Amino acid sequence: MEVFLTSPWIPAEWIRAHGLEPRAIWSAPQFWSRTFPLSAGVCAFAEAAVKFSGVRSDAAVVFTTTCDQLRRGFDASLLNGGGRTNFLFNLPVVWQSPIAKELYRSELDRLGQFLLELGGHPVTPEGLRRELLRYAEIRKRLRAAAPSSSARQFAEAVASFQWEGAFSSAPAAAPGKTVSLAIVGGPFCSAHWPLLEVLEAAGGRVVLNATESGERSLCPSCEFAADNDEPFEVLLNGYFGGIVDVFPRPNTRLYTWLRPRLRSREVRGIVLWHFTGCDLWRAEAPSLREAFGLPVLLLEAEEAPGASPRAVNRLQAFVETLK
Ligand code: SF4
Repeated sequence: MEVFLTSPWIPAEWIRAHGLEPRAIWSAPQFWSRTFPLSAGVCAFAEAAVKFSGVRSDAAVVFTTTCDQLRRGFDASLLNGGGRTNFLFNLPVVWQSPIAKELYRSELDRLGQFLLELGGHPVTPEGLRRELLRYAEIRKRLRAAAPSSSARQFAEAVASFQWEGAFSSAPAAAPGKTVSLAIVGGPFCSAHWPLLEVLEAAGGRVVLNATESGERSLCPSCEFAADNDEPFEVLLNGYFGGIVDVFPRPNTRLYTWLRPRLRSREVRGIVLWHFTGCDLWRAEAPSLREAFGLPVLLLEAEEAPGASPRAVNRLQAFVETLK
């Protein structure tokens, strides 16, 4: 059975170790297959997740408490009939207290129980260890490839990892005189990838994809320091310590992670990618400007897939100002 995840902070390894198939929901073919009318003030991503869960009643969907939109989306999905196959994972917002880690641990246990009810099998330490090692190796290879890869093909390689748990290499970008850019924000789905080509045609290149579906999603690091490390503890420490996102309070990990990458890749401007109705990312623009001293372009995901003429114009103008 497929289990669709609305966040990279839900361990795919945990689902695979139960014998089920984890998938990043934003990579699903039906996710953006039609234009969703925007309900006033509702994030298009959260809305798409609710509609997707209604269409794919043969699969499970794991929502999270990342934001009110997704939490309410879960409630709406229950009204849509998803009571048996949808799950709400409580992600701790405050991460600096020991209680937060215990909450994450208990949520993993609760998710495990849900996976068993879906037909998954009990996890064995060897099975979990095998998945952790495999995923850690792929993440390491993708992270190593990130700085020099073609932006589009790197996005495809991460999507393939988040869909199949497999590694596919991304070829290096062609050298040339370009303006180095970072894209920071929420999920940047395959329907939006044409924007990367728009940037390249304008003379820019994304050297840091810090969206939820890009390099930032590869942060969890589940490494075994010793042979007798308990796999569940490795999973817990790797994920709980690897949540690099806008929603935790404080969200200093996000800035600590961005800073050395922006500097070493000589980024000249940041595209802040956010969905309509996503106040979390939108509100981050002044802090990003102030923290890094870089120009920030707020780019709103349209509810329709593809690169809209308005988005194309704004990206072209942004790159021009940085040349
Ligand atoms: S994009 Fe923003 S509003 Fe939408 S689900 Fe993610 S955090 Fe919530």
